[in-house]
Amino acid sequence: MIIKPKIKGFLCTACHPTGCEMDVKQQIAHVESQGKNPNGPKRVLVIGASGGYGLASRISAAFGSDAATIGVFFERPAVRKRTASAGWYKSAAFTQLAQDAGLYAENINGDAFSVEIKQATIDLIRRDLGQIDMVIYSLAAPARQLPDGNVVRSALKPIGESFKGATIDFNSAELRSIELEPAEQQEIDDTVQVMGGEDWELWIQALLEAGVLADGCVTTNYTYLGGEATWPIYYHGTIGRAKVDLDRAAKALQEPMASVNGKAYVAVMKGLMTQAASAIPGMAVYLSLLFKIMKSEGTHEGCIEQTTRLFNTRLFSGEVFDVDDQGRVRLDDWELRDEIQAFVKSQWSKVTNENLDEITDFAGYRDAFLQMHGFGFEGVDYDAEVDPDVPMVLAAGS
Ligand code: NAD
Repeated sequence: MIIKPKIKGFLCTACHPTGCEMDVKQQIAHVESQGKNPNGPKRVLVIGASGGYGLASRISAAFGSDAATIGVFFERPAVRKRTASAGWYKSAAFTQLAQDAGLYAENINGDAFSVEIKQATIDLIRRDLGQIDMVIYSLAAPARQLPDGNVVRSALKPIGESFKGATIDFNSAELRSIELEPAEQQEIDDTVQVMGGEDWELWIQALLEAGVLADGCVTTNYTYLGGEATWPIYYHGTIGRAKVDLDRAAKALQEPMASVNGKAYVAVMKGLMTQAASAIPGMAVYLSLLFKIMKSEGTHEGCIEQTTRLFNTRLFSGEVFDVDDQGRVRLDDWELRDEIQAFVKSQWSKVTNENLDEITDFAGYRDAFLQMHGFGFEGVDYDAEVDPDVPMVLAAGS
């Protein structure tokens, strides 16, 4: 079939397999352009491996230090006329390209919160790798089924006072005002259960009990602090409470990780267009301004630039690296530079429909949204017939 984008709100319900493969190829090319990292990890588990920061981490590990990788994700294959999800196509492309390069790559598709998927992952590590030396937790989920069977949902809401802001419609490129009422306590608690550190701790506990974490193993989880303009909806909102819980979990994990001479880190990453970020109200204006100024300053990065910098200049640089007063690794250093934030702050309330393309990089932000679904890549013929059914071998139990 011929596949074109189908945008509804902040969702695009069609994805292009060849474009998704191109995305993965470009990310690999970036990692290869940075050269091999002799200190990089060799056996890596990525939980949330099919999009955004998780996929980029997997590519940085595989192509930066020839790591064997196991990816856990929750993605949808194609069904009749419906394309697969972008993460399905990207994981299938990654697996093929990694295996072509002689690298081990296996996948588990299912609910990472469940006991069954944790067990299937442990079985696979035992069967194929014995132990692993890095666990990257990069899950961004709207809901979680708890061990007792109850399902809790995360909310993207402010806390204490309502939030008034604007979002940008991807189809019409028009600014729309949004107003969100403050979250109820239950919504805050539920968001912490979904996006906080508890499941990361459960994973590490299960992996340690199974004896599959190697001596010196490192585990990471990703957080966002962002500029002041984003605080009311992000860091001071429900999702921010979940991120505070990650800091708690990282501290709680130091002791169990020490039993294998390992460490747990939260890494603070830059604000970027990913599936998860595109759903956050009010982020479109901030990110469009951020892209504008960071591109003009030459400091703009995508997920792959961020994760490769995280590996090469921090976690696996072979040298002692700086952490902040909470023990976090900071990769949002360029985003939070004074001149970058001063620009965002000065333009924030001036954005209108008329000047959108002039003072923001909404065009670049929209391109990133389309590319996330495999559209808009040079060298891909979008008028050609393409088979939406892309097979991917999945490990037992998923
Ligand atoms: P994303 O939406 O691109 O990826 C989320 C991943 O989680 C996908 O691989 C998806 O398949 C997987 N997933 C979701 N539910 C699952 C489930 N139940 N079981 C198994 N897999 C599941 O998200 P992202 O933006 O890359 O976010 C990853 C982490 O990075 C999050 O903690 C996020 O808060 C953080 N982060 C994001 C940004 C940003 O701007 N995007 C900035 C800093 C930190």
